[in-house]
Amino acid sequence: MSEKILFIASECTPFVKTGGLADVVGSLPQVLNQKETTEVRVVLPLYQEIRENWSDDLENVHSFPVSVGWRNQEATLYQLTYQGVVYYFIENEYYFTRRGLYGYYDDGERFVFFCQAVIEALSILPFQPNILHGHDWQAGLAMAFAKIQKPIEHLRTVFTIHNIKYQGIMPLDVYHDLFHLPDGHISGLEWNGLLNCMKAGLFHADKITTVSPSYAKEITTPYFGEGLYPIISEREEDVAGIVNGINVDDYNPQTDPHIPYPYSNIEENKNKTIIQEKLGLPVNSKKPLYVTITRLVEQKGLHLIQAIIDEFLQEDVQFVLLGTGDSEFEDYFYHAAERNNDKLVAYLGFDEALARQLYAAADFFVMPSLFEPCGLSQLISLQYKTIPIVRETGGLKDTIRPYNEYTKEGNGFSFTNYNAHDLLHVLQYSLQIFHDQEHWSTILKNIDEGDSYSWTESAKSYHTLYQDML
Ligand code: ADP
Repeated sequence: MSEKILFIASECTPFVKTGGLADVVGSLPQVLNQKETTEVRVVLPLYQEIRENWSDDLENVHSFPVSVGWRNQEATLYQLTYQGVVYYFIENEYYFTRRGLYGYYDDGERFVFFCQAVIEALSILPFQPNILHGHDWQAGLAMAFAKIQKPIEHLRTVFTIHNIKYQGIMPLDVYHDLFHLPDGHISGLEWNGLLNCMKAGLFHADKITTVSPSYAKEITTPYFGEGLYPIISEREEDVAGIVNGINVDDYNPQTDPHIPYPYSNIEENKNKTIIQEKLGLPVNSKKPLYVTITRLVEQKGLHLIQAIIDEFLQEDVQFVLLGTGDSEFEDYFYHAAERNNDKLVAYLGFDEALARQLYAAADFFVMPSLFEPCGLSQLISLQYKTIPIVRETGGLKDTIRPYNEYTKEGNGFSFTNYNAHDLLHVLQYSLQIFHDQEHWSTILKNIDEGDSYSWTESAKSYHTLYQDML
């Protein structure tokens, strides 16, 4: 049977991105569609930013009413085709004509509307999916609505957890305000006395996936399960961990248009001095350059970096942090950069071009996450021959093997405990290896010869999952 799959998501490259979810939703469909019997299309909210940047390409399909509790809203469906994939966008003036993607007081209501609109749209789409594939909490309610409110015969559902920490939780009184409740109740939406969109997805989807095998195991435990571990454990047989890939044509140092000096061979890489000059660091191609590019949130292990950064900067190294997020971290790194101005740069913002220039310029990528469902930054680093330094958790554990100077195996550096001195120790060890010509060449060679983390293998796992469901 052919697979017609509709991805439901809240972000997707090249349209809008705040993190790895956008990379995944923006690259997986193209690869899945390479199989003749598979067609994946994607539906997203039409954020202001997309409307502004893609207005010439958007084609109006249809308008239709959507009820959010007592509110009668209108949704307009647009579509465009990009690199062979059809994308649908749901427009609503009230919910999505705003700056940015998230962070509004009514985010819950916005995605109730989005999920409701997606389900309503199924009857007018020029495409009849047999599988709905929802991504993260913003799509969780679509799994529930597809099962209960508007059941469609033979329609199957998959829900992917990209990060179980973000659940879309709302107070229970919102429940009656936002839903049509003919019998007064939609089951499976409540958790711990609150309305929980991720729980809705986990409860109602036919299959659940998450983005690495280790994270799939971790979230069955109280520590990683963020309160939802009993649901995951109960549904363990329906849960699969499939590691994310990246678009290796896009993240390619030989062709990346954002980097000043494309390179295939690390010896020819001249990008470090350009970035040093651009960021006001002393220009010296021999100085080891460490970078981190991240959302500034606790998950990313920033407390560990905070605790040891001044001590590590006693070494002859340079460090660049590119990120945006919690003011606690923005303030800390802003001041840390002021007191270490010839060694540390904190660039507080979201900048895709600078990110790629840093992947290309750096020797090391530092990612000491507290937890990490998959992580893409370490995979992008491998593509640019930048050595990842990670904490062994979730997808980081599944993709980075620590360098062993005796067996000469490994594609990065890692440490186990969430402990700042363990991070400092591994940073110092990486420096020692950097200055050892033989080991340094070996680890770079291992990266050259190792897995590229393209989507090829993981796409096969998704195909098998879809086939099994149908
Ligand atoms: P998460 O999805 O938890 O944020 P991932 O490692 O899976 O983490 O993906 C992060 C993605 O977002 C990577 O492509 C990374 O380069 C990018 N990114 C994160 N912060 C920034 C930033 N400030 N500027 C540009 N790109 C960023």
